[in-house]
Formats: sequence, C-alpha cells, structure tokens
Amino acid sequence: MKQLLTILFTWVGVATAFANPLDSLAIKPIEKLQSAIVVDTIPTADAKLSIVLFNDNSWRYIRNEEIKADSTAFTRYWSTEKISPYRDSVALSQIPSAIAIELVDSLRSYHYPIKGRITSRYGLRRRVNHNGIDIALKVGDTICSTFDGVVRFSKATDTGYGTLVVVRHDNGIETYHGHLSKRLVEAGDRVVAGQPIALGGSSGRSTGPHLHFECRYMGQSFDPERLIDFSTGNLRRDHLLMKRSYFSIYSKYEQDWNGEKVLADADKKENELSAERRYYKVRSGDYLGRIAARNHTTVAAICRLNGIKPNTVLQIGRVLRVK
Ligand SMILES: [Zn+2]
Repeated sequence: MKQLLTILFTWVGVATAFANPLDSLAIKPIEKLQSAIVVDTIPTADAKLSIVLFNDNSWRYIRNEEIKADSTAFTRYWSTEKISPYRDSVALSQIPSAIAIELVDSLRSYHYPIKGRITSRYGLRRRVNHNGIDIALKVGDTICSTFDGVVRFSKATDTGYGTLVVVRHDNGIETYHGHLSKRLVEAGDRVVAGQPIALGGSSGRSTGPHLHFECRYMGQSFDPERLIDFSTGNLRRDHLLMKRSYFSIYSKYEQDWNGEKVLADADKKENELSAERRYYKVRSGDYLGRIAARNHTTVAAICRLNGIKPNTVLQIGRVLRVK
C-alpha cells in the first residue's frame, strides 16, 4: 500500500509538472484519482513515457523526464535489404502483453497514406493471412507517409508485394506500401508525415490497382483500421494501447465493439495457434530436409502433418504446416 501511494503521488507530481507539453492528453482530476487504484505501470514504445493502469480500467501517461529517447530505433533490427528484419529475431512472446504507443507527438504529425474505399480487410482471406488492408486507387495516385520516420526498405521485389516501400516511424510502427507503380524515396531517407513516398499501382500479386497497406510493430502485423478511419482519413486516436492479442490475424478493429467474449475467443484461438501450428511457404531451392532444419522439426513430422511423402515434389509458394 505504501508503494502504491508513492506511485500515486509520483504520478500526481509528474502529471502536474508536465501538464502543458502534454496538453493533448486528458489529465485526470486529482479528486477522482483517489478512488482509482494503480494496478500497474507499463513501459511504452516511447522511452520518455510510461503508462499507469488504474483498477477502473482507465489509464494515463506519465512522462519519464530522466530517460533519454531510444536512439536504437533506427539501428536495431534495421535492414534495407530484408522485407522483415524482425523475423527470426523477435518472437511474439517477447513482446509485452500491452504496450502504449504515442501515435502523434505534440506537433500532431499525421497524414493518411491515401483516402479511399477499402476493398479487402485485415484477416483471413481464402485461408491465407491478409496482413494488411487494400485500398482502391488509380495508377499514379500519390501515397503519403503516415507519420514522421525513416524509409527502411524501398525496392521493386519479386514477392507478392511487388514494388514496396516500408517506413519505420518514430513511434515504432512500420507501415508497408505494396503494389506501387513508382517509388519516390530511397532507403535511409528521412520523411515527414504527409510527404509523398510513392505512386500507387498494380505491381506484384495484384488483380487491379490498389494499395496494400500494412501496419507492423516489432514485425507483427495488426489491423490498420485500429489506427485510421480510411473513409475520412482521420486518425482514430492520438494514443494506442496496443495489446499483444491485436497481433492475431483474427483480431480486428470492429471486433472490439462486439464485446469481451469475441476478444477472449480470439485470444484463445491465437494462443492455440501460436502454441501449436506453424506454417512455412516453400521458396526457390528448398527441399524437405532444409525446411525441417530451418523450422526445428523433422522430415517425417512435416510429411505426417501435410500428408506428403519425403520425395514429394514441392512447388514454390506451397504452404506447409511445420508444427
Ligand atoms: Zn492486400
């Protein structure tokens, strides 16, 4: 209890001292604070901020004045050659169960990537993960950087993405822009919110001109509609309390309005899937022994899971269950 009170008093002190620079954050009145009990403090993607959770399910930011900004955001897991540099490096279980992300700072730097009709949502599409959303456009339409950041990847790829630009933003979120017709930025370029980064197109695995837009955090995708209302182009909120359960292909923005049951089921499903099933897409030059070694399993186990024989010819792009 003594510790709890210390946290509360620290919070009140810090919140009062920093009320002005954080005017976009609703500061809870002190008299109300007495009825809510601090249940946890959580680090955020921004090293300057922590979050305090109260027992009435409300939460507030506190500013850590001592901690310097994380200077490794643009060096750690950084690759201008790999589409997903976090893969094999960061497991979902390593990501905190909840993390607070300051989407926009006091300068409120935000711009929609493109405004338009969503033609395909985040989630399973014909049993294949659709890790982003598709937005209709005309070839040559301008696509903008959503937040400030640094271009991490900018290339014409021979993957489904086609020509792809990935921006790592100051808030830790990466945005992926696929099927482009023209790139306007190179890897390493510093970009600001609203800066044109590419022109839309239909390159890669695409049936018609559209933007494939993904949001990822530590390499894990989540529903971009959690951030942006694409019909108006508006950011839905200044701050996102990211839950680990959001990184499930079954976890969609719209579900949050359907009650806790759905979320709990999605969590359960996610846990089962991540605990048991793993899939692998066959690449050029792969053979079963290599796939087995790469996924820490055996050829026999892969054959059993997929109903194939050790000498079955593997088509490139075929998805094999490996666990
Ligand atoms: Zn898509």
